[in-house]
Amino acid sequence: MNIHDSEIMKGLLVRAGHDLVPEIKSADLVIINTCSVREKSQNKVYSLMGRLKKNGYRVGVTGCVAQLEAKKLKDDYGADFVLGTRALSSIVKAVAGEKDLDLEDHLSDLKYSAAIRDQKRHAWVNIITGCDKFCTYCIVPYTRGREISRPMNDILEEVNSLVSSGYTQITFLGQNVDSYGKDLKDGTSLAKLLEAAQSLAGISRLWFLTSYPSDITDELIETVAKHSNISRNFHIPAQSGSDELLKRMNRRYTRENYMELIAKIRSNVEGVTFGGDIIVGFPDESDEDFEETLSLVKTVRYVRLNVAPYSERQGTVASKIYKDDVPYQVKKSRMAKLVSIQHGIEKELNEKIVGDVVEIIVENSTDDHSYGRTIDNRMVFVDEELPEGEIVKAEIVAFKEGKLYGRLSGRKVSTVVK
Ligand code: SAH
Ligand code: SF4
Repeated sequence: MNIHDSEIMKGLLVRAGHDLVPEIKSADLVIINTCSVREKSQNKVYSLMGRLKKNGYRVGVTGCVAQLEAKKLKDDYGADFVLGTRALSSIVKAVAGEKDLDLEDHLSDLKYSAAIRDQKRHAWVNIITGCDKFCTYCIVPYTRGREISRPMNDILEEVNSLVSSGYTQITFLGQNVDSYGKDLKDGTSLAKLLEAAQSLAGISRLWFLTSYPSDITDELIETVAKHSNISRNFHIPAQSGSDELLKRMNRRYTRENYMELIAKIRSNVEGVTFGGDIIVGFPDESDEDFEETLSLVKTVRYVRLNVAPYSERQGTVASKIYKDDVPYQVKKSRMAKLVSIQHGIEKELNEKIVGDVVEIIVENSTDDHSYGRTIDNRMVFVDEELPEGEIVKAEIVAFKEGKLYGRLSGRKVSTVVK
């Protein structure tokens, strides 16, 4: 979502007559669009600010750290302006030197269509911003505010215009993408949006990210199962495999609920794969709790897993009522154990498809190789330069050092599936 916010700001600035330059060296102004989900990402912002100000740059800070620390960034770090997460539409005014726009809230004015996108065939599209869940460890509800869904017509209009400019893949984005529509109170849902968007001529594939386990509905599962141009990959963070920890994290499901959901999706969506997120070293996480997480990961068998050490975020409920008492060395060794088990699972899952012929949509290409994604979200590298968006068949020849390699097989399929 941060990457896409940057794309929108770039578009607004270029429309206003500014130029984007490829290197900081030739810039008059540097805008740092920030993330505060863990302390490490927040600290990186302060050190970069220090370096830039020392070298005399004009610096603006946007995003989650700006939302949380506007005063500190200006008073202690010399930021020339800050803009919070819901004030992005003021970027042009802020760059022009207008003061005190910092934490204004006018998300509904944001011109999503202005975005200058990094990719030419695959676009991010925001459908819902904010989060109402308040997991005890998480800063997002404080930085991004409450859930606001974009009207479905708005989104479909944007998708239509992207399709006419040559985009064939869309990823619908939200902190909880499957909460989409709840606040609109008119029956709108992610399933209905996907149903409508998949029928647009020119859409090769739709993705959605990130799902909250207990918000995934049967209607959504059925919609994914029914259409050949909706990704067969659900990214559903579990965060932990221990019921005790899930309760203290204020995740609104049990391990059993989660496993039932995975089983239900598996039995309804042929060829589906899963992605997930796990936090290691949440306060009071015992060896037994961690073992429960390991066993969950071994049972689900994710094709991709993000593992993060717990990072205490000031202002969250966890920071107020729990002590960050798992020593860093223990967090690190648990992470290493989990990551190594996950690598083993990925190896097995990917070696299983060596020899298969898969369809990929090309995402990126350099001089001599390209990579694309399968419908179940596996990235495949091929030794050939291919146009972005091209749909090709590839025979998987190897899984080496964490990467799948393919060889073009037979004729190119087409540029559009449906
Ligand atoms: N809405 C999604 C996740 C969005 S935040 C969900 O409900 O799961 C992205 C990821 O950052 C989370 O899944 C979590 O694994 C990680 N994260 C969030 N807060 C964290 C914290 N305080 N410490 C470590 N990881 C954290
Ligand atoms: Fe953070 Fe996701 Fe929980 Fe919302 S649901 S509070 S974004 S982890």
